[in-house]
Amino acid sequence: CGIVGYVGGRPAKDVLIGGLRRLEYRGYDSAGIAVVDDQNRLHVEKKEGKLANLEGALAESGDDFAGGTGIGHTRWATHGRPSDRNSHPHVAGRIAVVHNGIIENFASLRAELESDGRDFNSDTDTEVVAQLIDREVTGGATAGDFVASCRAVLARLEGAFTLVIADAQAPGTIVAGRRNTPLVLGRGEGEMFIGSDVAAFIDYTKEAVEVGQDTFAVITAGGYEVFPFLEGGAAESREFTIDWD
Ligand code: GLU
Repeated sequence: CGIVGYVGGRPAKDVLIGGLRRLEYRGYDSAGIAVVDDQNRLHVEKKEGKLANLEGALAESGDDFAGGTGIGHTRWATHGRPSDRNSHPHVAGRIAVVHNGIIENFASLRAELESDGRDFNSDTDTEVVAQLIDREVTGGATAGDFVASCRAVLARLEGAFTLVIADAQAPGTIVAGRRNTPLVLGRGEGEMFIGSDVAAFIDYTKEAVEVGQDTFAVITAGGYEVFPFLEGGAAESREFTIDWD
């Protein structure tokens, strides 16, 4: 339902929670965040219910969620009932994913992954994306290459999706792609923001980028690059200044 992401010098956790708070107006049934630290550790917390539940769990976890790379989500369940385990981010191995929309071909992808011996931790359509990217980056044709693995998987998906992806082995980089649902980036000084809409980062910057259809962005603290994820496609994006008083 709502997505926020961050790469930069601030504690990602604070930016993510602030962004999710800004996206609460959309309505949601659960919320979660994942932060990658510079020791290649993935910190994940997710909870059914209001953002206050997530904040309570974060406070109780005893984990400081240190790290400047992170993704966050408020969920409006379409596949799998609202629950802690069906909340986003979904994690498979080194990969964490948040998703808005519906992966229409998730059932055949899940069957393929299960016959490959992969165990699932949720009932969502989203988890296939995390499992597919982890499989590619650990042993597929694009092994070791996070960005190329994301691209290969995005090209296989059908339906509507904004997907924001972090890799424990790639602190400082986030990949975000979209088809049929919106994705915007916010440009700061030595930091970058990601959102399903500009409300996610309006407190930090008014310099934004609309990512186009069937396009993905590779985002680092220093900026972004866009690429098509379909064979023969073109990367579409548009920079603009948010006009919001
Ligand atoms: N289809 C996904 C799910 O049910 C994402 C829903 C959303 O956009 O929040 O988990």
